[in-house]
Formats: sequence, structure tokens, C-alpha cells
Amino acid sequence: MDVYHKLEKLGEGTYGVVYKGKHKTTGQLVAMKKVRLENEDEGVPSTTIREISLLRELVHPNIVKLEDVIMDESRVYLIFEYMSMDLKKYLDSLGQGNYLKPDMMKAFLYQMILAILFCHKRRVLHRDLKPQNILVDGNGILKIADFGLGRAIGIPLRVFTHEIVTLWYRAPEVLLGANKYSCPIDMWSIGCIFAEMASKKPLFQGDSEIDQLFRIFRVLKTPTEEIWPGVTQLPDYKPTFPNWVQYNLNSHVKNIDNDGLDLLKKLLVYSPPDRLSAKQAIRHTYFDKMDMSKVPTTTA
Ligand code: AMP
Repeated sequence: MDVYHKLEKLGEGTYGVVYKGKHKTTGQLVAMKKVRLENEDEGVPSTTIREISLLRELVHPNIVKLEDVIMDESRVYLIFEYMSMDLKKYLDSLGQGNYLKPDMMKAFLYQMILAILFCHKRRVLHRDLKPQNILVDGNGILKIADFGLGRAIGIPLRVFTHEIVTLWYRAPEVLLGANKYSCPIDMWSIGCIFAEMASKKPLFQGDSEIDQLFRIFRVLKTPTEEIWPGVTQLPDYKPTFPNWVQYNLNSHVKNIDNDGLDLLKKLLVYSPPDRLSAKQAIRHTYFDKMDMSKVPTTTA
């Protein structure tokens, strides 16, 4: 850890406190994450080391770069490139009654999907996408943080401050206990984040797994075998779930045009194989007339 000066605390994440840091010789700003592992006394498992090392190869303009991995006795420090703000803080900073400009929202979503496409092609899932790990800078550049950490370290039920890990962006198949899930889980989260960028309000704000599911059902109606083949076979599905029959997503999202709403509906499809993939999403008509100057680093 001698290479970096530790500066102020930036936030508290899923895996531990995040500090701002500065490289002692180059002056480069970094975000330093000390990762807390379940069995700290036993040292860092070799699988974790291997998984984390693989993440160093995920180099893309829309992914927060993992600059360094430092092992210090039984601890792991992840050193990431520094970004000035996360999407949650950015949306809050717009102030009451002000919304993200439509071009900006489009450019942000586009960059998110480019990052997802890059990782999904390499079979790396994020698993825990949320506005807190989507980072932005003052020039409209967006980068996703924590890619692949879910698999390398696992997603704890609670963060180390005992706060419960948010369920708001979690796909219905995960909430229903599916033991096999894949890329579509990230696309669901992208849909929820898209709606939140538009409305500045989380779309499904549940406070328990069942509350989260029922909030989804109330807006997208309770899923049936007809719209989601296999749903009744999922471990946590109950035939006694209340049967909401109205689909009313339109009235839940503000400040989104018709193409945007169409894209959102296709991201929030229940059946995972029918949900839009990153490859399909990037080609959606919503992006047809996009101002590419708003996507500074990725279009070259
Ligand atoms: P995370 O562990 O990714 O959930 O991070 C917790 C908080 O730390 C985030 O909400 C950010 O505000 C901040 N943060 C994480 N990574 C970075 C980074 N690369 N640059 C600046 N701030 C960061």
C-alpha cells in the first residue's frame, strides 16, 4: 500500500469502504477498495485471487479500470481509476424538478449497454448493477464499476455497515430463487436504471424480497405460465401469490419518449430468454438518432 496516499473517504460500498487515493509518484487519482472477505483469518482463497486477476483484462472505455490488485497479508485492496461521481449522486445533483436531458440520458444508457455487451460477450456478468456503481464524470462519460466482483467475491446479504444490499434492481428470476441465471439479469437491472434516470425515482423500491416481487407484479402484472414459461416451477414461486392483472408501466415512468418506453418494456420482460439482450438493445430504434458527440470515448 506504500504506492498510494490515502485521501478522503468516497463512500461505502457492498464490499467495504472506498477511499480516494493518489499515486505517490505519478499523482494519478484512484479509488481504493479494501475488500472484506468472509473468512479473513484463512487468507485470501486462490479462486478469489484468480477471479480478480481475470477482471484486470476487462479493459473498455465504459468500464472502470482495475489498475492494481494489492495483497496485504489476508486482505485484498482493489485500486480503480477515479471517477468524479456516481449516477445516484449525479441525479440528485440536478435538483428538484430538474431531469436529465433526453440526449444525455440516451448517451448514458448507450454507454451502459456498450459496457454490458463487452462483458457479456466474455461471459462475465455484473450481477449487482445499480446507480451507485455506475460512475460518471463531468464530460458525459459513463463507466460501470464492480464488474465481475459478484462472482469473484460473492454478493453479501448485508454490507459491512449492516445495511441490507439493495433489491431494487434485482431480476424476478433471482427473486424467485432460480438457481440458473445468466446475462438477462443484468438487462433487467439496466431497465430499472433507465426508468430511474428518466423519472429520478427508483422504479421498484422494495424493502424485502417478497415486497420487491409484489411491487414488480403490481406494475407488470403477476406472471403466468403463458407469459413466462416455467415460472411456476421456480423454487420460490407460490400459487397463492396475489393475481395483479393490469400492466401499467406507462403510468410509472415519466420523461421518456415512445421509443424509450418501447425499449424499457423490452428490457423489463419477465421471461429471461425473451428479454432484450445487450446486442439487441444497442440496435434499438431509440438509439437511431443519437448524437454521437455525447459518447466521447466509445465510438471511434
Ligand atoms: P461501490 O463499492 O462500488 O458500491 O462504491 C461505493 C461508493 O464509492 C460509490 O457509490 C461511489 O460513490 C464511490 N466509488 C466507487 N468507485 C469509485 C471510483 N472508481 N471513483 C470514485 N468513486 C468511487
